[in-house]
Amino acid sequence: MSELLPHPVTGTPYPSPVPPGTGWPDDPASATTPVARTPSAVRRLTHTDDLAELDARVSVCSACPRLVRWREDVARDKRASFADQPYWGRPIAGWGAPTTGAGGAGEEARLVIVGLAPAANGGNRTGRVFTGDSSGDWLFASLHRVGLATRPTSVHAGDGQRLVGARMVAAVRCAPPANKPTVAERDTCAPWINRELALLAPTARVVVALGGYGWDAALRALAGAGYVVPRPKARFGHGAAVSVVRESHEVTLLGCYHPSQHNTFTGRLTPAMLDEVFARARDLAGLTP
Ligand code: SF4
Repeated sequence: MSELLPHPVTGTPYPSPVPPGTGWPDDPASATTPVARTPSAVRRLTHTDDLAELDARVSVCSACPRLVRWREDVARDKRASFADQPYWGRPIAGWGAPTTGAGGAGEEARLVIVGLAPAANGGNRTGRVFTGDSSGDWLFASLHRVGLATRPTSVHAGDGQRLVGARMVAAVRCAPPANKPTVAERDTCAPWINRELALLAPTARVVVALGGYGWDAALRALAGAGYVVPRPKARFGHGAAVSVVRESHEVTLLGCYHPSQHNTFTGRLTPAMLDEVFARARDLAGLTP
C-alpha cells in the first residue's frame, strides 16, 4: 500500500489502491464483499439478482493477474500530474441509474452506454467509469447538453454528478496496459457485464456502444444476457442501429464513434455528432429532456 493522500472532493485520506468499504464516494463494496480470484469464481459470483451486490462484487474482483498488477502499479506510481491524489486502483463497476449502494434505489435505467475498458489514469484513478480523462469530458458534456446528465463535467466520485435514466458500463472492468485487454481477459470479465445487462433488461430500451470495440463488446454482452442478436453480425458505424430481442422485449443498439482524442482532434467526431446520437437514444428510450 502507498502513502495516504486526500480524496479531492471529501479530503479523507486514502492509500492507493483504495481498500473496499472505507468510505470512498460511491464505493459499492464492504470489507466482507466476496472476491473472485479465478474465472470460475467470477462466473459463480455473478449469480445474484441484486444489482448493488453485483456492483460490489465486481469492484473487488481480482481474477486477471496481469490486470490486477497493472491497475495497482499505476495506482501506486501515479501520473505526475495526479501525484497528489489517491488512485482507486480497483475494477470499475457500472454507474448511474438505478442508484445503488448508499444512495438506495432510484430511477430506472432505460439507456445503457457501453465502452471497452477504463483508462489507467481516468476511471482507475477516480473510481467512476468514463471519469477523469478527455473521452469522459466529451461524453459527459454531450450527455448534459441532451439532458441525460445533471452536470456538464464528471471529475471525481462524490462530485454531485448524476445520470438521468442512464447507466454507463465498461465491458472489461479493469484498466488494461495500452488500453488492450487480451481475449482471455475479455472472456474472464464477460460474465459481469452479461449479468448486469440481464438485470437491467426489464427497463433497458437502448444501448449506445462507443467505438467498434464497444459495439462488438455490446453485441457479445447482449447475447450473453440472453438477447437474440442478428446473424451475420451487424456492422458498426456512427449512427448504426440494430434491434435485439429478449423474451419479446426489444432493445435498440446504437453505434457512436468513440470520443477518443484521435477522433475528436481530427474532427472525425464533433460535439454535434455526439449530441445527435445521444438525443436519438434519449428519445428512443422515452426519456424526456
Ligand atoms: S478485468 Fe474483469 S474479470 Fe479481470 S480482474 Fe478486472 S473485473 Fe475481474
